[in-house]
Amino acid sequence: MAVPKHRISKSRRDKRRTHYKLTAPHVATCPQCGEAKMQHRACPECGVYNGRNVIEKE
Ligand SMILES: [Zn+2]
Repeated sequence: MAVPKHRISKSRRDKRRTHYKLTAPHVATCPQCGEAKMQHRACPECGVYNGRNVIEKE
């Protein structure tokens, strides 16, 4: 297993971490009810996914 030979300086460590960033969640609009929903997820409002009702709502 690889073992570090030198301690990484704060500068190098922090420069590496500049690539770590949060991305905004992928919000889409439901074509059925127009509600905001997650991409590739069934709509939490009407339970429709890909034009098909996948969650039974009362
Ligand atoms: Zn919907």
